[in-house]
Parts: sequence; C-alpha cells; structure tokens
Amino acid sequence: QNKNLKTISILHTGGTIASKVSYSTGAASSSFSPEDILKLFPELKEIANIKSRLMRNMFSEDIRFSHYNLMAKEIEKEIQNGADGIIVTQGTDTLAVTSAALAFALENLTKPVLLVGAQRSSDRPSSDAAMNLICASHFITKTNFNEVAVCMHGKSGDDYCYILPGTKTRKLHSSRRDAFKAVNSNTIAKVNKEGKVEFLQEYHKKEHKDKLKLKPFNEKLKIGVL
Ligand code: GLU
Repeated sequence: QNKNLKTISILHTGGTIASKVSYSTGAASSSFSPEDILKLFPELKEIANIKSRLMRNMFSEDIRFSHYNLMAKEIEKEIQNGADGIIVTQGTDTLAVTSAALAFALENLTKPVLLVGAQRSSDRPSSDAAMNLICASHFITKTNFNEVAVCMHGKSGDDYCYILPGTKTRKLHSSRRDAFKAVNSNTIAKVNKEGKVEFLQEYHKKEHKDKLKLKPFNEKLKIGVL
C-alpha cells in the first residue's frame, strides 16, 4: 500500500479479460484468479493501490437483474470501505448493458465506476486486457469523474482508450479491439497508457446533496433476447 496513491477496487465477474486459450481445444476458459490478474498486469500497482476480488466467474450473456443488484451492492461496499474508484471487469457481449444498468442502479454516485473488458484473452500477444485496465486506472486516478462509464480501446492499435457514456454505448463488432462506440452520444474522453487524459467534451463533476442510494431492479423481471 502506497499512501500517495489512490485506491482502486477491481470487481471481477468473468469473461475474456480473465480467460486463457486452451491450445488443445481452442476454447477460451475463465481461469485466472484476481491475484493472477495483478501478476499479469504489474503496471497497475504503480498507478494505484489495487484491491481485486472475484465476485462471480460467468459469461456475460448469463448476467441477469439479480447480478446487477449484486454488483451495485458490492460497489457500494467498496466505496464505503474507501475506494476512490471501481473497475468492474466482465465479458464484453453485455458489458454495455451492465454499464447502463449500473448507471440506473447507483443513484448519487460519488466515485467513478468503469466497466472494462477484453476482446482478446490476456495471454495473447494481441490482448487488449492490459491496456484497457491501465487506461481505466489512469482515468480514475487523474480525474474527478464520478459516473458509470465504459473504458475500452479507442482504435484497433494501442494508441488510446475511450471513456464512453455508461448509458449510451454499444458493442458494434465481435472481434475488433475498438468494438465499443458511443451511440447517439459522444465519447467522453481519451486516455492513453502513459496516463494522458483528454476530455472530448466539457465535463463537470456531478455534485450530489444526498448520499449514494441503490435502486435495485425487480429480480423477477425477465430479460428478453440479449
Ligand atoms: N460471450 C462472452 C461474454 O461476453 C465473450 C467473452 C468476452 O467477450 O469477454 O462473456
């Protein structure tokens, strides 16, 4: 723990960001523990004090309203325990749906919550996992942003990541690293591996008079086709 650094809690739910490819079957399986993630991305320790916790290990297509409620509760807990920002990692297929769900479930949010995934598994040379996590960590430590957003590659190369609006982002390609785009809205900011942040629109921190409040979803609701 370095007192001069902020604290980021990484809540891990599964997906490619935590997967490795089995070269005998060709399938990607989730098998990295949160400790493995820190071993894999040691740069993160230079940016912030990292707490990392496995919340679930599931495919994002299996995420339901009960899981959004669980994530919101865990995020609240981390904030109460002093986290300066939260990173939620999950599979990319419904990552943008989760960011929208959390934006609605977390009222009067005072800290940033960034959804981060990977299009290519962490043990591949072309993996985008490290850069997405590093950019998200820089964005949390270097800005006063306090909303839910998505942090993924902005270009197919490793130039920078985009910070995308929590409620207005879609995954628009199955394998490109820059698959996530703001739809009917604009990218909030660009951030690179070295920690350079550039807001692409004017940003004013949201001030809340009231405390963080959870607005849970009705868990009996059925999600239609995802
Ligand atoms: N269908 C998987 C999921 O969304 C793909 C893995 C991934 O993109 O991270 O969990």
